[in-house]
Amino acid sequence: MTTGIWILGDQLYLTQAALQSCHDSSKVAIIFIESYSHIKKHQYHKQKLVLVWSAMRHFAEELRKLGYSVTYKIAEDFQTPLQQWVNVNQITELLVMSPNDKPFLKTIEDLTLACDITLLPNNQFLWSTEEFDNWAKKRKRLLMEDFYREGRRRFDILMEADKPIGGKWNLDAYNRKPPARNLNTPEPLWFEPDEITQEVIQQVDFLDIATYGEIKEFRWGVTRSQALSVLRYFIDIRLPEFGPYQDAMVTGEETMWHAMLSPYLNLGLLQPLEIIQAAEQAYHEKQLALNSVEGFIRQVLGWREYMHGIYHHVDTDYSQQNWFEHHKPLPEFYWTGETKMNCLHQILTQVMDTGYAHHIQRLMVLNNFGLIAGISPQELENWFHTAFIDAYDWVMQTNVIGMGQYADGGLLASKPYAASANYINKMSDYCKSCDYKHSQRIGAKACPFNFLYWDFLNRHRDKLKHQGRMNFILKNLDKISPEDLETIHQQAENIF
Ligand code: FAD
Ligand code: SF4
Repeated sequence: MTTGIWILGDQLYLTQAALQSCHDSSKVAIIFIESYSHIKKHQYHKQKLVLVWSAMRHFAEELRKLGYSVTYKIAEDFQTPLQQWVNVNQITELLVMSPNDKPFLKTIEDLTLACDITLLPNNQFLWSTEEFDNWAKKRKRLLMEDFYREGRRRFDILMEADKPIGGKWNLDAYNRKPPARNLNTPEPLWFEPDEITQEVIQQVDFLDIATYGEIKEFRWGVTRSQALSVLRYFIDIRLPEFGPYQDAMVTGEETMWHAMLSPYLNLGLLQPLEIIQAAEQAYHEKQLALNSVEGFIRQVLGWREYMHGIYHHVDTDYSQQNWFEHHKPLPEFYWTGETKMNCLHQILTQVMDTGYAHHIQRLMVLNNFGLIAGISPQELENWFHTAFIDAYDWVMQTNVIGMGQYADGGLLASKPYAASANYINKMSDYCKSCDYKHSQRIGAKACPFNFLYWDFLNRHRDKLKHQGRMNFILKNLDKISPEDLETIHQQAENIF
């Protein structure tokens, strides 16, 4: 009787549930599979493919060194190599840690193998899906802030007895500074690709499958030890200044003080609690500013866990929701970066080169444009899933359909994240070098973010007036004359 373990591409850690359940490495056979049909589901960023496949190959090597019998297959589908491996190794039970992504669960359920398949509860997050559901069922509104406070108490993070350190739970108000001149931002920690990664780069370069983005320079880490170096670097060099300019966007500054940890966290190369505790420890030992440390911890202990929890809590039709009934196709420039709108051009080019943009670039530019222009949330979600190095179904649905597009009608966000050029001009330097005028609402040079924004508010006035936090903004809409609203509408209609 042999037990088999199938390790999925985003489950690359020694304490993952399937590996943890087998104590004797000599009695288990392990398989990893790179499947080509799987990567045809989205037109993935080339660097994402290199990251995941190279990290899988490195982890397979690590397991071999620990004495495991490891099979590594590159195949069209999952079924064929799994069946062959089950037969050759006379596997009687296949263990898989439950996938985070719902579509992948269906892939596993559709397999027909000559052995039992046992799914073990996923241990990649601090809150299991059951624990999140228990928290959620006691509440009328699933507010992230309430969930975050519960997490701080439960894991005893930045607490003094039952009170938050410093007296406040949330110091976000200190973390919204517009960019100052001559910001002295730290270089990111990048890596030279080793032999394994070079091989994967070659493979991806020659793929006869549609992909997205560039691979000229692949600089991401692909092992736990490299991911730990990025964590250490973040804690020592970036975290001290992380807070104040968290929302700022500057031309040529791809990463500012951001952590760049999501690609590693989402693969399992780092664990959420170790990151949170490293930040907390640095706060105590180095007397770092509380707004920086709390601001970062809230992202991982609050937002990340909350988004994952909600994804599993809601019905499967969540991905198809479209509260504003937006159906316009995604503009071509999302794929090419070729647009005169400088903010979009800068960020889209950066995403093509790296697979990365920071949170405000994703939310307040890439997503905001889709929302106010009336793009289909599903088309936008597909693009985000394609374009980002850290994208997975669990993180995409809630961030794009929920937070970004408000397509769930406000289950997750308390108001739509819609903004005019005013916000982008305040929080970035993009408008200074743009063909459009951020201060103009109508006319040939008017910034599209302006007329799209006011047209969005006007088109959805009836729905928005029931969202308490929108009343103040709708009052400003009332100050615009019907003639100007009509001109705004015509410009918005003619933009594509
Ligand atoms: P930092 O801000 O420096 O670090 C914060 C950490 O907290 C991140 O590493 C991340 O793990 C976590 N985090 C913070 N907010 C979220 C969130 N809303 N959801 C999940 N994790 C969060 N995150 C992804 O991991 N994958 C995605 O594909 C993704 N797509 C997004 C799309 C949109 C429209 C929006 C608004 C957000 C998206 N996010 C996504 C969340 C967030 O923008 C990224 O996690 C973050 O930018 C990653 O960069 P960082 O590690 O440098 O972030
Ligand atoms: Fe973007 Fe408008 Fe500013 Fe140009 S003027 S950078 S389009 S917000």
